[in-house]
Amino acid sequence: KTIVLLGGGAREHAMAWKLTRDGATVHVLPGNAGIPNSHPDISATDFPAIQSFCQTHGVKLIVVGPEAPLAAGVVDYFAGSDIRVFGPSRAGAVLESSKVWSKDFMRRHGVATAMSWQYRSDKLDQARAKATELDGQVVVKYDGLAAGKGVYVCSSVAEAQAALDDLQQQHSGWFSFLLEEKLTGPEISIIGITDGNRVRLLASSQDHKQLLAGDQGPNTGGMGAYTPVTFAEDNVMAAIRTSIVDPTLRGLQGEQFDFRGFLYFGIMLTSQGPKLLEYNVRLGDPEAEVLLPAMESSLLELIEAALDGKLQQTVVRHRPGFYVGVVLASGGYPAADFPTGFPITGLDELHPSILAFHGATRQQDGQLVTSGGRVLVLVGHALELEDAVAHVYREAARVKFQDVYLRTDIGQRPAPVLEG
Ligand code: ATP
Repeated sequence: KTIVLLGGGAREHAMAWKLTRDGATVHVLPGNAGIPNSHPDISATDFPAIQSFCQTHGVKLIVVGPEAPLAAGVVDYFAGSDIRVFGPSRAGAVLESSKVWSKDFMRRHGVATAMSWQYRSDKLDQARAKATELDGQVVVKYDGLAAGKGVYVCSSVAEAQAALDDLQQQHSGWFSFLLEEKLTGPEISIIGITDGNRVRLLASSQDHKQLLAGDQGPNTGGMGAYTPVTFAEDNVMAAIRTSIVDPTLRGLQGEQFDFRGFLYFGIMLTSQGPKLLEYNVRLGDPEAEVLLPAMESSLLELIEAALDGKLQQTVVRHRPGFYVGVVLASGGYPAADFPTGFPITGLDELHPSILAFHGATRQQDGQLVTSGGRVLVLVGHALELEDAVAHVYREAARVKFQDVYLRTDIGQRPAPVLEG
């Protein structure tokens, strides 16, 4: 079975690795220097080039890694052809791409989420008054793509007003935004594979978005992840199912989305129960890098079952123990600009049980060098979480490039006290 995978980061490396283990021959467009069968000349959003690649190689299945090809309508482009694409149509991708739309969807279907108020850019004064009324304990969310800079978590009236000032300065013309009640509690990622009627959930996982240890510093694409989450016990998972996952599925069915793809629930466990912060319509990165090694079942079979509407015949099995993924980043990331092109050494010295997924590497004069912010993700496994953490950090110390940076506390957040 030959398939095409779209994307070119460490998430796609993990997906290609898993699908290859499941028995597929995987071509990755564009891929990267560390991913076998990469095709750097074909971009993940160049649909005509992808189509002719599929025709030349007899490919009938495309799996999508990142959001961009989905938001650009890759599923719609291939609809009616004999090539199937695993992912939502452009209409389904709006669950991720518009925060206002997805919030309305949550409300229509009774999905547990933060209270929120929607405004247009000409109603900033009303938003300012509301933020003051809520004592500045709000989250301001720009409705649209904002390169990771559209969410402001505020802790005072002054901060909330500054966030609204910034919103006004950053965006010209009409725009919409949300003011949300600020929730508190640990966050957890739950990712499912859905056929629009049913969902099969992968294990729970936790991302570490901020640059510095102790969840300090600027937000990044994610500095590491682990699975399963120690406090996601059966009662927590049951509450997530009944208050978030099931109403979402009823919504997808009721609105006839025909959503066949990955569906990601970004959840906060509050004292009032689990609340949904956001949907993504793809696998998380770096969550995928730990979730896929932890999966014992065939991802390929699950994807095909979802596309065939036969998800009810499947189960998802996971391997015992914990998987911890640590990102090795370029010094200076996540600033807009930082030096790359540094030689990477030590990968061949890694313990054979360590997985090394490439995020931003390239070959230069016969040598592997850095080519972006999140260069590598190393994943370690052990039966106990603390052993998996120790193992991955011991091995990470062998991999060297100039100005390498990693967070030292992945998988080591103190256990939260959950109420109720
Ligand atoms: P992502 O990169 O995860 O896709 P995003 O820019 O789409 O992020 P959200 O996931 O909606 O934005 O929010 C980003 C982060 O802001 C969340 O992970 C959470 O830490 C925080 N956050 C969002 N909404 C709330 C809320 N209502 N209360 C408290 N914190 C929140």
